[in-house]
Amino acid sequence: MTHPPRPALLWLRDDLRLSDNPALCAAIATGAPLHCVYILDEASPGLRRLGGASKWWLHHSLQALAAALAAKGGRLDIFRGEAAPLVSSLAQACSASSVFWNRRYGQSEIALDSGLKARLRGLGLAVQSFNSHLLHEPWQLQTKSGGPFQVFTPYWRAAMAQRGWPAALPAPDALVAAPYPAGAPARVALSDLALLPARPNWAKSLEPEWQPGEAGAQARLAYFLDGGIDNYSEDRNRPDLPGKSSRLSPHLRFGEISPRQIVQAAEDAARRGQAKQGDADKYVSEIGWREFSYHLLYHHPDLATRNFAPRFDAFPWSDVAVALIKAWQQGRTGYPIVDAGMRELWQTGTMHNRVRMITASFLTKHLMADWRIGEAWFWDTLCDADPASNPASWQWVAGSGADAAPYFRIFNPVLQGQRFDPQGAYVRRFVPELAALPDTWLHKAWEAPPDILAKAGIRLGRDYPHPVVDHAMARNRALAAFARLGEKPVDGKPGN
Ligand code: FAD
Repeated sequence: MTHPPRPALLWLRDDLRLSDNPALCAAIATGAPLHCVYILDEASPGLRRLGGASKWWLHHSLQALAAALAAKGGRLDIFRGEAAPLVSSLAQACSASSVFWNRRYGQSEIALDSGLKARLRGLGLAVQSFNSHLLHEPWQLQTKSGGPFQVFTPYWRAAMAQRGWPAALPAPDALVAAPYPAGAPARVALSDLALLPARPNWAKSLEPEWQPGEAGAQARLAYFLDGGIDNYSEDRNRPDLPGKSSRLSPHLRFGEISPRQIVQAAEDAARRGQAKQGDADKYVSEIGWREFSYHLLYHHPDLATRNFAPRFDAFPWSDVAVALIKAWQQGRTGYPIVDAGMRELWQTGTMHNRVRMITASFLTKHLMADWRIGEAWFWDTLCDADPASNPASWQWVAGSGADAAPYFRIFNPVLQGQRFDPQGAYVRRFVPELAALPDTWLHKAWEAPPDILAKAGIRLGRDYPHPVVDHAMARNRALAAFARLGEKPVDGKPGN
């Protein structure tokens, strides 16, 4: 009598897809039946807990993954608890011969994974990990002197010169699910993870915006490459033009699509003449910013908590009143483009990149609030809240980061609004109380003459707030603080 083959265990984390999933392919290649496992780990030390919008996304992403696995003959088993002991008791209970996963890059995640790898190998299991999340592993690219990069342009030049990432893998045709063994840790239903908000269900407005899961990611990519990418280099800055950026970031965050797949598709589109080479290159370089953020996170594990530039430890962040922080969070600052962005975030779980920069600049420079306050709010409210891109971008805007925006770049919310939302479609969508204001006044409602305000049905201070801070005063205050830090104007160029 022959024994049934010992199963392989696939631990899925930030790689919730079937195509271009090297750990899944390696597990299938063993020829053994599979245990596909997801663990919501809120117990291991050091792991950052997901924010509310990410949890909402994760619920739907797991639902889609479970259905996709089932359609191929597989099964997703879900657990809640401390991951390392769970994986190891599960591997033992099902007599697994091998365990597979794709890598993560946070310090605590790396510590957890390498400890577990050693433990499982000690038990005689074969353990293999792969890169599925990035074009290059963060340690693969080095400066000429052998250190990590601190500046994006040379980093990306080196990345594109080296290339060398493998072609994206196809999804498997079929899977064989291993029977669930008696005595294994208890599985839970997806609903037991309690990832969805209940009372109140603030996520209702997110539903029409998104299709979490691999099929949604592929559909979004195809839609973007079929026209959206046209003039991307310019139009990506326009929050008023829907569909002019790919909106793939939450899909990338949860690994429903890989950067290899995206780059391959964008480069193919350029080759076929479906996209202009310049637009495809610009788009791929944005994927490069994500890569660079992971490079920074790997080499500076406390990116979300500590200033990348230590001189910023002396920056005099002001002790901003709770009411002002709330006004920023709720989109009631009196600056229409800032308020539109913050309300877009709350209503849709995302915010246009240009407006992320404007709202982050407003918080850190106009209000002089510590960037960590904004990073935490974005972490909770963005569907794409990413452990690398979110802190790296916040530090970039605040000026404390790698290759950061120059300190004198204090975005003028009026000029930014007029330049990137010229007809005001974006502000009118998210700040409807200003909708009837003529374009001339839309981005500076407080300067509108009383008769224009009356005609638009706006009583400032009642229907829409007065600015919570004066732009010129705030700008001078921030510049003075930067000057105290030893930052001096380089070319006297004023903030735009
Ligand atoms: P596209 O223009 O279509 O770009 C394609 C992909 O490139 C994106 O999906 C994203 O993965 C990547 N990308 C684009 N711009 C950047 C960038 N500046 N940095 C890193 N990756 C980039 N992005 C996140 O994915 N998660 C975050 O938590 C996050 N927080 C941010 C916070 C602030 C303050 C700022 C200024 C930016 C932040 N970004 C973050 C970067 C950027 O705003 C988003 O990636 C982008 O808006 C996503 O929209 P998209 O998919 O349509 O982008």
